[in-house]
Amino acid sequence: MENPTVFGKIIRRELPADIVYEDEEFIAFKDIRPRSKVHILVCPKEYIPTLAHYPETEEGALKLGRLMLTANKVARLLGLEGYFLRIHVGEKGGQEVFHVHVHLRSDA
Ligand code: AMP
Repeated sequence: MENPTVFGKIIRRELPADIVYEDEEFIAFKDIRPRSKVHILVCPKEYIPTLAHYPETEEGALKLGRLMLTANKVARLLGLEGYFLRIHVGEKGGQEVFHVHVHLRSDA
């Protein structure tokens, strides 16, 4: 199924974004409403609506692990010495865009 979210549109280049990192599996771009000095969103290109949609399988664990490692790689590429990660899960968890993403933020 095609990813109908705003992040799907960014991945398909139908919407502009300030992309700071991209590889075959992931994309990272600046949050349009930054709430820290550095505020990046790291997403898999595969359409996965929320963290809760990752299967509890070896494959799901590997995909999620690579998402975290990619967030760390982006932090390293940006030269961040310290940062925090945040994931909103579901509407009641504050999620607005239903394509899984990690907020990578730093005020250091
Ligand atoms: P969440 O609440 O975890 O779903 O976060 C969604 C984030 O996406 C928010 O911090 C928004 O500011 C951000 N956002 C929404 N639209 C865009 C966009 N077109 N480009 C970059 N960031 C966006």
